[in-house]
Amino acid sequence: MSATIGIDLGGTHVRVAVVDADGTVRHEHRAPSPSATLAGLVDAIAGTTGALLAEAGADGTRVGAVGAGVAAIVDPDGVARYAPNVPALVDAPLRDEIARATGLPAVVDNDANVAAWGELAHGAMRGMRNALLLTLGTGIGGGIVLDGRVYRGTNGFAAEVGHWQFDPRGRTCACGEPGHWEAWASGTGLGVLAREVVARGDAPSVLAAAAGDAAAVTGEHVGQAALAGSADALAVLDTFADLVAIGFAGLANLLDPEAIVISGGLVNMGPVLVDRIRTRFPVHLEGRAHRPEIPILAAALGDRAGVIGAAVLARQVAPTS
Ligand SMILES: [Zn+2]
Repeated sequence: MSATIGIDLGGTHVRVAVVDADGTVRHEHRAPSPSATLAGLVDAIAGTTGALLAEAGADGTRVGAVGAGVAAIVDPDGVARYAPNVPALVDAPLRDEIARATGLPAVVDNDANVAAWGELAHGAMRGMRNALLLTLGTGIGGGIVLDGRVYRGTNGFAAEVGHWQFDPRGRTCACGEPGHWEAWASGTGLGVLAREVVARGDAPSVLAAAAGDAAAVTGEHVGQAALAGSADALAVLDTFADLVAIGFAGLANLLDPEAIVISGGLVNMGPVLVDRIRTRFPVHLEGRAHRPEIPILAAALGDRAGVIGAAVLARQVAPTS
């Protein structure tokens, strides 16, 4: 049995899995990620990978290569150039360090691109030629599938969809630029919107969910109150879903995908949010009465999209035998 290893490297955890050719996770380990230095990260990866290789060897699985997805922009040589949340991944030659530490051919890409490879090979985008993966969490991540492959752009930095300037006079994004889409349409943006509405006195159920502390209101409080059926919280979600849908429609106008696949913490809110996005999305789409529907689908791999996708990517550098 031949397989590859996928690594999901986050700011607080490293998750490593042996994944076979049909996308089945055969062995998996998680460990805290010492993210302060590159050497610490690589040591954690090497230790976890070594243990997995021993397990894989014991059941006769041959591991050909290792892939990693990281919350960073990554160049075509596998150098993590910039990672706002992981200081050790700034100008870090991660691919070469992983290859050296594991003794296997290695490949590294941005975490959203890697998740798109996973969904394309074994998840909700299976069989599609052109599709979009959008991850709605603290920020917004994107993976663009064009012609059956994940599009990386000239330098590997494509699909930073969260940092698309949505309103140049709008709120400042976490990256420092004004009005990026992610400042409006991420979980962080939902929290900002909710605090604005609470400050006007228009969301008493959301304020109650935050135990009356207006400054402590987050998107999760909106979700709790909305799931309980409170009309004021549902009205906040109406506004928020429209901001999400405007971005979806802009991207769909640009790329004409077969589907938009969504993942991330906000999607866990379920139909109360996702159905609102589905309702508002076509309203903003060019020529909507004259084009096929673009379905908005839930991602299929859940929190394993990172390890499975990284293992799928690793197949590109595995020796053929
Ligand atoms: Zn930004």
